[in-house]
Amino acid sequence: MMSNRAEILTGLKSVVIKIGSNALTRSEGGLDEGILANLCANLAELSGRGIAVTVVSSGAISTGMHRLGLQRRPQRMPMLQAAAAVGQYALMNHFSAALQPFGLHAGQILVTRTDFEDRTRYLNLRNCIDALQRSGALPIINENDAVAVDEIRFGDNDLIAAHVTNLVGADLLILLSVVDGLLDKENQVLSVVHAMDAQVASVVRREKSSRGTGGMGSKLIAAGTVKTAGRPVLIANGKTPGIVRSLIQGETTGTLIMPGGKRLAAWDRWIMTHQPRGIICVDGGAAAALRNEKSLLAKGVVGVSGSFSAGDIVEITESDTNVLGRGKIKFSSNEMAVIKGLASSQIAEALHRGKSPECVIHKDDLVIF
Ligand code: GLU
Repeated sequence: MMSNRAEILTGLKSVVIKIGSNALTRSEGGLDEGILANLCANLAELSGRGIAVTVVSSGAISTGMHRLGLQRRPQRMPMLQAAAAVGQYALMNHFSAALQPFGLHAGQILVTRTDFEDRTRYLNLRNCIDALQRSGALPIINENDAVAVDEIRFGDNDLIAAHVTNLVGADLLILLSVVDGLLDKENQVLSVVHAMDAQVASVVRREKSSRGTGGMGSKLIAAGTVKTAGRPVLIANGKTPGIVRSLIQGETTGTLIMPGGKRLAAWDRWIMTHQPRGIICVDGGAAAALRNEKSLLAKGVVGVSGSFSAGDIVEITESDTNVLGRGKIKFSSNEMAVIKGLASSQIAEALHRGKSPECVIHKDDLVIF
């Protein structure tokens, strides 16, 4: 297993590290300054070796709760927002102070779901991260909890970290929580996970943490997103001093989730960032064509569900359960209901248009898993 790790961790150029609320918080509440200082020393070391470091940090709400004297996580959204507003500021002050001895600045970036789904915002975000790293600053990213409510909210930094990894095209995602890795039902750490299949999903314990929102379920989803993009993920205990350094040195600690087949290009990684707006079910012939990197034609579509517009990202399935991939569709759900099963030459007439696209999803806009 060590050789796997050593091989995978050779020549890292860019790493995303996510630290969870519980890992950053003392058992009695409030930020664990020792852990934060140790983490920042490790991050500075990586940065000093020329590795682009991007941090996704939770802990705003838990820090705010402590400052506001709240014993339990608020149930009501305005109070959660208030805790985040107070805590985020404190959190960044601590990052800033902990990085300063290493000559590094902390650059705060607060995001919502829209920043990933809107292409212009997505590219702006990437440009900002690049510029910070070139300026001797570490990007420290969190959800904009003070304003992100309802549908623009991720509510989960594991997933944000996965999307950030895909955004910057990082070589590795490290998820730090308060458990030693993915644990099986006997509480043993799974050292290496090769496939995110039903077997792994069934052995992993899923308890959630008391202060954060993640848990192992969300880590599996986040890791799956990065794995699909062809990058590895390490899950380890953020309370262990020097954990980032140990992981990067290839020590067998935590869980390594092996990368999937091929490294996806930047455009495909953006497609992977979306919450699909609908589902397109295709027949066996179309499924085989998609696996051969062909475009999706209306002829092979047997079912459409969800409400989407032309240009939205949809999921593609072969039957109700077999997910093939995702793609950027050229027709709305209403149009798809009319043209499914038709030959390309029949589409324009069926939609009462002069002309129409030849395919439903172009091969360049398809990600097949
Ligand atoms: N954004 C939240 C915070 O900083 C945490 C979300 C999570 O735990 O995933 O408090």
